[in-house]
Amino acid sequence: MHKLNNIKITAIATCLAACLLLCDSAVALDHVTFVRDGKRRRVDGRLVVEAKDGGLMLTARDGVIWTIPPEELIEHSTDDTPFKPLSRDELSMQILAELPEGFDVYGTTNYLVFYDTSKGYARWCAALFERLYRAFSTHWKGEGFKLPEPEFPLVAIVFSDKDSYERFARAELGDAVSSIIGYFSLRTNRMVMYDLTGIGRAKGRGSSSLTAITKVLSRPQSAATMATIVHEATHQIAYNRGLHERYSDCPLWFSEGIAMYFEMPDLQSKSTWRGIGKVNTPRLIRFGKYARNRPGDSLATLLTNDDRFRDTSTSLDAYAEAWALTYFLIKQRGAEYVKYLRLLSQKKPLIWDTPEVRRKQFEEIFGDLDELNVEFLRYMGKIR
Ligand SMILES: [Zn+2]
Repeated sequence: MHKLNNIKITAIATCLAACLLLCDSAVALDHVTFVRDGKRRRVDGRLVVEAKDGGLMLTARDGVIWTIPPEELIEHSTDDTPFKPLSRDELSMQILAELPEGFDVYGTTNYLVFYDTSKGYARWCAALFERLYRAFSTHWKGEGFKLPEPEFPLVAIVFSDKDSYERFARAELGDAVSSIIGYFSLRTNRMVMYDLTGIGRAKGRGSSSLTAITKVLSRPQSAATMATIVHEATHQIAYNRGLHERYSDCPLWFSEGIAMYFEMPDLQSKSTWRGIGKVNTPRLIRFGKYARNRPGDSLATLLTNDDRFRDTSTSLDAYAEAWALTYFLIKQRGAEYVKYLRLLSQKKPLIWDTPEVRRKQFEEIFGDLDELNVEFLRYMGKIR
């Protein structure tokens, strides 16, 4: 166990105090009882962080991460039972019990898709995610980064329509839910979305054929929504296959850059994913516009601070620049990119680097930022 001081906590985990102990409890099971919203709960899991004020961060056996402030805590005990994720059956039963009436589960090698829309849509989603999952693994293996197996099955929850999705997701997203068509939750480790075909249950469960779904979602007007779903699915795979750890200080340009590198949908091929590493045209166009008035310190602000992503007036430009930088580094500086990926994949939850440390770690691998900036702009200027 490591003792840490003066750790900056961001908004995602404000309930934990500034002094933390990082826990290495792979061989222990923690039992925590606490009260939230007037309800008494008990969670069994693996302690990730224990704050000096008694606050806890815990990974439960279903993969959900709980942050429990000291004022909610009733009891915490540990025994030497090894931590073991729930089995697929146990997890399925638990999630079905948490969801509204009418849900079913469709399982594939790596996924559990919970759905109350047509079984056809659940099968279609699972096939899409499995294909992305395989292509993702092949890509990083080819780059020299071998991915660990996921600890938990990958879970997606698919609602039949936007209304029921919004009712469910509002607890997590608040009012932003109306502008978000699907998301990966760092807290629950699950994707949540709804049937985008609009066919859903209208024609009865099981009636939507895979071909009919592909046809509807291949329309040009579905391109942006499909990109969002693939983007979120990529986040889930990246977090579950060891590219980054949930709640660690992986810079947003990096995790978002990867999601955008993979987000170009490829609904037609059977086994591969031709969208990987293709020019992401909407992001390129946005970056081209941004580049006309781009500040000289743009790379520095992108790398060292996530604020540009969190401010709605700057976020689209930040995303575009993150895509462009990721594209440039993977294509031109592949070996260094993987070295940097390896460094970031080791980062532990709730330890926040200063801007200076972020810049130093980046420059130690990629060299001087100003020189890289010149090379980056020259390269991107030629991409069409
Ligand atoms: Zn994202």
